[in-house]
Amino acid sequence: MKKLVTLCAVASLTLLLAMASLASAKTTFVTIGTGGITGVYYPTGGAIAKIVNQKRDVYGIRATVESTGGSVFNINAVLSGDLDFGVTQSDRQYQAVKGLEEWKDRGPQKDLRAVFSIHPETIVLCAAEDAGIKTVADLKDKVVNLGNHGSGTLQNSIDALVAVGIDPEKDIKAEYIKAAEAPGLLQDGRLDAFFYTVGNPSGAIKEATAGKRKVRILDVTGPGVAKVVKEKPYYAEATIAISDYPGAANDKDVKTFGVKATLVTSAKVPADVVYAITKEVFENFDQFKSLHPAYAHLTKESMLEGLSAPIHEGAMRYYKEAGLLK
Ligand code: GLU
Repeated sequence: MKKLVTLCAVASLTLLLAMASLASAKTTFVTIGTGGITGVYYPTGGAIAKIVNQKRDVYGIRATVESTGGSVFNINAVLSGDLDFGVTQSDRQYQAVKGLEEWKDRGPQKDLRAVFSIHPETIVLCAAEDAGIKTVADLKDKVVNLGNHGSGTLQNSIDALVAVGIDPEKDIKAEYIKAAEAPGLLQDGRLDAFFYTVGNPSGAIKEATAGKRKVRILDVTGPGVAKVVKEKPYYAEATIAISDYPGAANDKDVKTFGVKATLVTSAKVPADVVYAITKEVFENFDQFKSLHPAYAHLTKESMLEGLSAPIHEGAMRYYKEAGLLK
């Protein structure tokens, strides 16, 4: 009898293992590159993963999220095949496709594909009240974090500084640390200010403005900035609602400029995978929108704007099917 029980147990275990390996053989693992965990990319990757993973039994897709250095890192990792998808700024998508800025030496990145746009991102400039910084021009001689190499933020900070006549290499003490560390360093007095291109509200800016040291979110405006925004097709004027950051020293909305967060992939990623992700996000649009306050003003149409790379064929299949594109 004991022998029979053992035999049955072994048999059912074997069956279970066989079933498990069959299921895993059918699972496609997909990784989405995001940003620092106190940004909006990280929860955005989480929102996309959550929505597609709900249909795991239909598509066999298991999406996971990776915290990364941001836009530029994500584009390069998607192109090298280290990531399947990446969240990236619309300006960086434009530059990669055209072979500009970080891609100047390597030329146009032909395999980059757009999936959809997501939330608006603003150039957020946080400065400590006691550092006496009232405008971007006051950043001269200050310790300012411009963003890590690999972030999208870095080039935006440089553009903002150059626009007001500040040389980022000579006129300030530039730091290149990750956005997730900047709020703590600002509070500790090791930074006077930092830039972060991010959706609102974000955990990082909340953290920066909620500490003991009073922190102001500055306007990033003026004739120089207006000129850059006019010249570069990927920039647009933007406003940060100060109600997003009740801890900030200022109580007026902030005028700045911004870009859009977008989802990109590579031409090498199978169409069925891109189709499934696109379809699930669009068909569960209300659920998706409820997953982060930065998505408050998203519309399906706005998610098709701001894309410079060719739309991936899998995403295109869905947009045509849904009548969103011809
Ligand atoms: N836009 C930022 C960057 O690429 C990341 C923002 C975020 O993580 O929400 O540098």
